Amino acid sequence: MNSTQKLPISFEFFPPKTPEGAEKLVGVRQKLYALNPEFFSVTYGAGGSTQDGTLQTVQAILKDGFDAAPHFSCIGATKVTVRTQLAQFQQAGIKRMVALRGDLPSGYGAFGEFKYASELVEFIRAETGDAFHIEVGCYPETHPQAKSPDADLLAYAMKVKAGASSAITQYFFNSDAYFRFVDDAHKLGATIPVVPGIMPITNSSQLMRFSDACGAEIPRWIRTRLQSFGDDTASINPSALM
Ligand SMILES: Cc1cc2nc3c(=O)[nH]c(=O)nc-3n(C[C@H](O)[C@H](O)[C@H](O)COP(=O)(O)OP(=O)(O)OC[C@H]3O[C@@H](n4cnc5c(N)ncnc54)[C@H](O)[C@@H]3O)c2cc1C
Repeated sequence: MNSTQKLPISFEFFPPKTPEGAEKLVGVRQKLYALNPEFFSVTYGAGGSTQDGTLQTVQAILKDGFDAAPHFSCIGATKVTVRTQLAQFQQAGIKRMVALRGDLPSGYGAFGEFKYASELVEFIRAETGDAFHIEVGCYPETHPQAKSPDADLLAYAMKVKAGASSAITQYFFNSDAYFRFVDDAHKLGATIPVVPGIMPITNSSQLMRFSDACGAEIPRWIRTRLQSFGDDTASINPSALM
């Protein structure tokens, strides 16, 4: 990429849960189309809770002439359900997806036939060859359930070996962790592009809660600035943190 080219970006949506949310998303999409992103991705509830909404949102974006990728988690899934879903994606003209393990929602008992995302990636490649550009998730600050940072890195390398095309990180506010992760992954031969996931700060308590759950560290300087805003979400914006 030369200095006159813009950095490629993508945007992640979660599928709207209400008709009002769906209406709002149409407007947001139009605004973001103007930035000409490489693609949009749409999250997916583990256990298939937002499965229909994910596909519908992806289809609407494709219809508008932009590339869109469903997130696709395998926890609780079987080979038969994944095969059906892959056929649905192909029928819808989908060429890219974010393949994940997902997390079991509370009260959801069955683990399914896939234990890790690497098994899903391997299955997708075996079933559909090169039909999809497969993104996977990765964790510069280590996945919260990993036995150790090294074990997590090895798990990531397995996803790459299984056929991942590129990776999107969990968001982070500590850029050293990202560069370290990329260097360490390269040492293991995992050299696919690793795209930093960026979380814009709009709601302090939501960010704290979500970061505790996903293992993203909020540096003290950001935490203390956010605490000073309290619940005044209207005042929280990136420029306020500068
Ligand atoms: C960019 C991005 C998008 C996301 N989108 C969604 C979404 O739409 N819906 C959703 O429900 N969740 C989403 N998540 C969250 C994700 O589902 C959770 O973080 C989940 O806990 C792990 O998913 P994974 O695909 O990274 O799993 P995996 O790569 O399978 O890793 C899960 C855990 O198992 C360990 N592990 C993996 N393989 C092995 C092995 N062979 N032996 C031992 N341990 C192993 C890893 O170290 C890690 O601790 C997203 C995460 C990211 C980074």
